[in-house]
Amino acid sequence: MHWRSKLLHPTNHAPKDYNSLTTPVYRASTVVFENTKGIIDNWRQKTHGYTYGLFGSPTVVELGIRIAEIEGAHHTFIVPGGQAAISTVYLAFCKTGSHCLVPYSAYGPNKELAYGLLKNMGIEVQTYDPSIGAGIADLIKPNTHLIWTESPGSITMEIQDVPAIIKAAKARGVAVAIDNTYSAGVMFDAFKHGVDVSVQALTKYIGGHSDLVLGSLSVANNALYEKVGSIWAQLGMNVSPDDASLALRGLQTLGVRLEKLEASALKIAKWLKDHADVELVLHPALPDCGGHEIWKRDFTGSASVFSFVFKEHVPKEQVITFVESLKFFKLGFSWGGTQSLAMVYPGLHRPNRDYKDRLVRLNIGLEEPDDLIADISAAIEKVIR
Ligand SMILES: *Cc1c(COP(=O)(O)O)cnc(C)c1O
Repeated sequence: MHWRSKLLHPTNHAPKDYNSLTTPVYRASTVVFENTKGIIDNWRQKTHGYTYGLFGSPTVVELGIRIAEIEGAHHTFIVPGGQAAISTVYLAFCKTGSHCLVPYSAYGPNKELAYGLLKNMGIEVQTYDPSIGAGIADLIKPNTHLIWTESPGSITMEIQDVPAIIKAAKARGVAVAIDNTYSAGVMFDAFKHGVDVSVQALTKYIGGHSDLVLGSLSVANNALYEKVGSIWAQLGMNVSPDDASLALRGLQTLGVRLEKLEASALKIAKWLKDHADVELVLHPALPDCGGHEIWKRDFTGSASVFSFVFKEHVPKEQVITFVESLKFFKLGFSWGGTQSLAMVYPGLHRPNRDYKDRLVRLNIGLEEPDDLIADISAAIEKVIR
């Protein structure tokens, strides 16, 4: 054999079946079949055997199985990001002429998709008040095919009565999807409450270190596995095994990270609540925060992300200077990582309330909360006092 051929067809190999404690990274497009009779072309890798990298190498399939186990789902598809999970859900449940309902507090790009691509496809998406609860029944039409929930809502943190919405939807045979990113798939037991589909931005708590973008789409039963899986396969939602490996690593420390983040975020939220320049703290674990009673009933904990609103006497220019004056808190999108972040939302629109550009969202990281409080306090003193 020429040495060039030898490069591709070696005769000697390391022994197989290295029994690593952690899941290896399987990087592959092509799967080699034993013989022509064994050739199959099927996206159902878990039940039909591995066929092609697009449908997930063992590293990716392992991550899906782990998320499904933690969320109590029938199956979890791993997708390139939280937004990819959202778009796949829409395309699996809606067609031209469909009507969908989405809370106005939903993740921004969810609504951008609804009023962009979906509208152009003749899919009607209607926003609803996140506090609607059982009242959702009045908005359901004969062509309503999907109801989105997200609790707490993005940025403004509205808690939804998801069980009441599910009950009303079930009575009319409408599918309910939840964006369960806030709860990391663990603090709100979506499948026990009867959702059909749960999505997560694994980018946030599962990844946990701000170094990957990944999503999950979990389904409740085999009929939904077939319905969603067919669309997922047609869309070609491939993810890198390296990213899946990082998410598997993240899962190992999710428990300790969430515990620490919850305690730190609560300490800082309570400190802010008592501050003379703060009007409102939007953190569902605070007793006077809207939706607190529902949160207490349905959730087993709270997370690292929350918002607060400065009082009327603080002009919006000072809010900007405040976030720019923070030292530990960096300015950046996303959340759920190890470092603290702050963000402002000029022009934020919510039909029930005008926050007048005085809202700041914080993501609390793993720094000591007293250092973070000192940072916030110094920035307020410098800019506002
Ligand atoms: C970040 C986020 C997403 C989108 O996730 P990506 O992985 O960034 O695409 C979706 N929903 C919520 C609630 C999020 O916070």
